[in-house]
Amino acid sequence: MENNLELLINRLFPEKLPTPEELAKKYPNRQVPNGALVTRVAPSPTGFVHFGGLYASLISERLAHQSQGIFYLRIEDTDKKREVAGTADLFASAIHQYGIHYDEGPDEKGQEKGNYGPYKQSERADIYKSYIKELIRQGKAYPCFATPEELEELRARQEAMGERSGYWGHFATWRDKSLEEVFMALDQGLKPVIRFKSPGNFQTKIIINDLLLGRREMPENDQDIVIMKSDGLPTYHFAHAVDDHLMGTTHVIRGNEWFPSLPLHQQLFTALDWTAPAYAHLAPIQKLDEGKKRKLSKRKDQEANLGYYQEAGYPEEAVIEYLLNLANSNFEDWRRANPDLDKQQFPFSLKKLANSNGPLFDLNKLNDISKEIVARFSPDELYRRASVWAEKYDPETKELLNTDPEYLKKIFAIERVGALKPRKDLGRWSEIKTEIAYFFDNTFSVSPDLITTTLTELSGVEAGDIISDFLDSYNPKDNQEQWFEKLKEVGEKHGFAGNNQDYKAKPEKYHGQVGTIAKLLRILLTGRTQTPNLCLIMQVMGLERITKRLKAL
Ligand code: GLU
Repeated sequence: MENNLELLINRLFPEKLPTPEELAKKYPNRQVPNGALVTRVAPSPTGFVHFGGLYASLISERLAHQSQGIFYLRIEDTDKKREVAGTADLFASAIHQYGIHYDEGPDEKGQEKGNYGPYKQSERADIYKSYIKELIRQGKAYPCFATPEELEELRARQEAMGERSGYWGHFATWRDKSLEEVFMALDQGLKPVIRFKSPGNFQTKIIINDLLLGRREMPENDQDIVIMKSDGLPTYHFAHAVDDHLMGTTHVIRGNEWFPSLPLHQQLFTALDWTAPAYAHLAPIQKLDEGKKRKLSKRKDQEANLGYYQEAGYPEEAVIEYLLNLANSNFEDWRRANPDLDKQQFPFSLKKLANSNGPLFDLNKLNDISKEIVARFSPDELYRRASVWAEKYDPETKELLNTDPEYLKKIFAIERVGALKPRKDLGRWSEIKTEIAYFFDNTFSVSPDLITTTLTELSGVEAGDIISDFLDSYNPKDNQEQWFEKLKEVGEKHGFAGNNQDYKAKPEKYHGQVGTIAKLLRILLTGRTQTPNLCLIMQVMGLERITKRLKAL
């Protein structure tokens, strides 16, 4: 009988495989300081980086590095049906772009670093097979030749009988087939899958511990799940157990859609004679949809796609700080108290993620954080960052930025350099175009209606006279105070009070106050009613441009 089993194993796995002993040697226990966490992120290359994937990466990275541990990247590409070819490197390049450092795994070009690889599951097929072979030998796994039609028929039968569906108990017919029957099927050229022979009983309750969800009672797993598909690659469940064991993961931090699989995963670890890692199942990021919370969805929400933030041109730091906020809501207070500290110094806490049904996504909050961060960039930095973005995403902005870099940097310096409170009007690089369009003659325009309304506010005083007096006295070298003094003088001369008090004291004496004159200038120069400081704008625009625009009236 034994010999027959060995014959079967050799027939199923004719190739030379590493032995479990060799593997144990090749993947020694990691030498990390006491209490250090080894975590990982394990994306599948589906051609899409979910915002939640960046969130989970950040959490795993923080917990590892904050404890002097290791964070690594593993590509889970064993599900060839879900895989979008050529996208395995997308995740690496995304987390690299967002400054999430990983110690081991493939880089954007697929080059691997680290001693626990390969880090792509499709390159680890022999490793999984080695353990599957061993499980078959120990009677803990078996080949199954059930066809999709038979499985469908089983499902329908179970439904009709009011039974739980799946390959379990006496429904798992290949579990008890004789070796002769198995050989016969192989002789017919059929390709089996390998199933795990579950030792569980659904009626038995077990306690499962999760670092975020706490202690939960769940039924034991009794499903004989597929651990190796007929293409020779493992399923997620099996690969998870093998990889997280060999790669020395201490904490598996993953989406809570995997929580129901924990009884199975624990069984797999026991069957393989390994200790399971600790688990922390993350609640997904939520979004308000017509007043109701729901999971941020890849199908429905553009914000679920990391590409959305890249295209809009949110600075990477903003996205990361926003995610830190979502994970640990005290980050915001910490940042306010420590505006200059590196975010790595924030004491990140896994506990703070517990008791959350999933943080609520709020684009306004991200915009605010982003504006705060952009406000701290120097004009050079802003120019450089915007250029990198424009090069990739927006030819129009690129052209604008290339037209006159020095002029651009002066524009960016307005209320930024030397300002007590730097302006916070820019949060995304995609906003630059509209924000600064008025500085350029080919993109500047002013609505005739706006001019008409403003002229009415002059109560009959000739705008041309005001402008001409203003230009006569204007000196680009004047500082803001001098500029305003001169504006007041021009105003007084034409019957506009220099401030509200004077105006209110003698309303009969004035047509209005100096703000009306400033508004006139602002509209003629920028086409807008609200802008950063007008004196600074004029200095940047230069005498020639402002004269031309003011005289165009
Ligand atoms: N490849 C799995 C996924 O994309 C990863 C789950 C895990 O982190 O273990 O959902």
